[in-house]
Formats: sequence, structure tokens, C-alpha cells
Amino acid sequence: MDNPFVSTVAPHPLLACHDCDLLQRAPAPQIGSAVCCRRCGARLYRVTRNGLDRCLAMTVAAGVLFVVANAFPIVALELQGVRTATTLFGAVRALYAQHMELVAALVFFTTILVPALELLAMSWMLGPLKFGRVAPWLPIAYRWVRIARPWGMIEVFMLGVLVSLAKLSHLASVEPGVALWSFGALVILLAAAASSFEPHELWARVDALATEADEQSMSIA
Ligand SMILES: [Zn+2]
Repeated sequence: MDNPFVSTVAPHPLLACHDCDLLQRAPAPQIGSAVCCRRCGARLYRVTRNGLDRCLAMTVAAGVLFVVANAFPIVALELQGVRTATTLFGAVRALYAQHMELVAALVFFTTILVPALELLAMSWMLGPLKFGRVAPWLPIAYRWVRIARPWGMIEVFMLGVLVSLAKLSHLASVEPGVALWSFGALVILLAAAASSFEPHELWARVDALATEADEQSMSIA
């Protein structure tokens, strides 16, 4: 469990260590510092400045690159005057047409479907928070991101493509397409977005918005 339980009753909230279950008071937040368990030293969370906003910006940029990467050809090959170019989805269809249904399904699942749903779930969570609202079904989106992340394998796909291109370059003329560069940048952006995403900050902001809404409803009543 990455998001430790946070109690807002006390001035310094209580945290439960996800490794050893020690209940402890959170220290006063200092930007850039990591809060670690007093007993086992496990990292509980990191205090960042605008970490969620940075994560949202990188997620949106990754979404744009994802569309570009899927809309344009990954690579063009020219052999004996015959030129062939394909997109990622075109490669999936070609695999399916060659009776490699399982490989086609695996490529579609790990490089198109899962990354797309992960980007949508991240945007769904962080977009409304940016404007001071909590998205409906936020816990479901959070769980989905946690489940989906290990299944997104764009970097493995990229490695496979680069090795194949290096080998094919002796046989045919290889021309990297727009999508290949987009996929390269997408891998970096996805890693940067994942590393800047701090679940503690997400739940703290959700908690603050819920408290604010409660106070407003009480003052109206
Ligand atoms: Zn601990």
C-alpha cells in the first residue's frame, strides 16, 4: 500500500508505515525531503513542490505523444525498390493476419490499450484536482493505474524495434518514422510522470478539498 493512512484530526497527521505498520506522527513538511519510517527506515512519501501539477503536465504531454506515435509510421523499409511503412496498429494487424493471434493480442494489450488507459486514468484523477474538484470514481482510477503500470511495456517494445532495425539495416534501407521518435520521448515522459506522482500528495489534496466542502456546507446550514 503506497498511500499511508492519514488522519486529519491531529495537527501532525498520523501515518502507518506500509512495511512495519508503525503508527507515527508525520513531521512538519519540508519541500524536497523524503519522510521515512522511524523504525524500519522505509520511505513513506516525498514532499514536493507542485508535484501533482508537474505530473499532470507530463501526462498531458505523454497523451499528445501517444496519439502522434500511433498515428504515424514507426519505420519505413525499402528493399529492392519496394517500400513498406507501418504504424503500431498496422504491425498488430499484420501479426494477426500471419496467424500470430496471441502475439498480436499481447502487443496490442501492452503497447496500446494499457498505456492509453493508464494515461486516461491519470488525467481523470489529476485534471479535476487542478481545478479544485475531486473526480468521480477517483479510487477506482487510482487502483487501475496501480494495476496497469506493470503491464505497460512500451520501453520493451522500443528495445525490440531498435534491435530489429539494427539487424535489418544490413538487408534493407531503414528510415525511422515520426512515431519512433515519439515513442522514444513517450518512454521518457511516462517514466518522469510515474516518478513525480506522489500518492500521499494526491490523497492529502483530496482530503483538503473534502474538508473545505464540509466547512462550506456547515456554514450554509
Ligand atoms: Zn516502518
